[in-house]
Amino acid sequence: MPSSFNQPLGGNDMPRFAGPATMMRLPMAKSARGLDACFVGIPLDIGTSNRSGTRHGPRQIRAESCMLRPYNMATGATPFDSLQVADIGDVAINTFDLKKSVKLIEKAYDRILAQDCIPLTLGGDHTLVLPILRAMAKKHGPVALVHVDAHADINDEMFGEKIAHGTPFRRAVEEGLLAQDKVFQIGLRGTGYSPEDFNWPRKQGFTVVTAEECWHKSMTPLMAEVRKKIGNHPCYLTYDIDSLDPAFAPGTGTVEIGGLTTWQALEIVRGCKGLNLVGGDLVEVSPPYDPSGNTALIGANLLYEMLCVLPGVKYA
Ligand code: MN
Ligand code: MN
Repeated sequence: MPSSFNQPLGGNDMPRFAGPATMMRLPMAKSARGLDACFVGIPLDIGTSNRSGTRHGPRQIRAESCMLRPYNMATGATPFDSLQVADIGDVAINTFDLKKSVKLIEKAYDRILAQDCIPLTLGGDHTLVLPILRAMAKKHGPVALVHVDAHADINDEMFGEKIAHGTPFRRAVEEGLLAQDKVFQIGLRGTGYSPEDFNWPRKQGFTVVTAEECWHKSMTPLMAEVRKKIGNHPCYLTYDIDSLDPAFAPGTGTVEIGGLTTWQALEIVRGCKGLNLVGGDLVEVSPPYDPSGNTALIGANLLYEMLCVLPGVKYA
């Protein structure tokens, strides 16, 4: 079908291991102008508390995305016949200064949202969601949130710092960035400092779904509940790769056992179809701990699945 939309470079036009190193080998764009959705990288790891390396995440996710083909065999989604999409490159953070980087990220997302473009972000550590949510709230008001993670990321401080990868959702509550009765945290687990780690979000109106509640189950019924509660409210999807079990995704900084499976991850992202998604991210891929590339490969696939459930995508 001839199309005026950008297409990923096909595996029969150029070998998959060659060609441009953009997300899905899409055309590169200088800005979000004229795009319905964009892939954008944030090479940030100076907000991490344990293993670093997520600064290399965007590049490795792009490299592993070369295997992705345009048509979604499972869902029938045809994102590249529905939306104008490109890779707009990386946000030029200041890797010596986290607070300055947070400001730079917010400004970059103000510019993307001013073009009515939906950003899908290649992380980067989870600190990056705070400036994105700041930009989102300016554009859309307080947003609903689907947050998939092993961790609640609601610490008040880490080592005395208010800005770090374990604090973004505490700050988001304080700043009124979230529609708090429309926030779902899925996959939480591991050791904690106290029961407050998961009870504080509940007290804010969040719905907490622990990993144990997900074990041995399909996520499809849960996602029906999520869609019912959130309705048409502008919704942001933030996906921490450490929500997955380390058997699937070992290449990340703060690993917890007993996590989600890749098929549960697919059910969660595909279950976002019908939500009024205004953006999404895939964070915490750390290539130095991912020698097989599989963690980045899963990240690339989940970002593609996010693209497939954006508003306006047509299905074959
Ligand atoms: Mn996180
Ligand atoms: Mn996490």
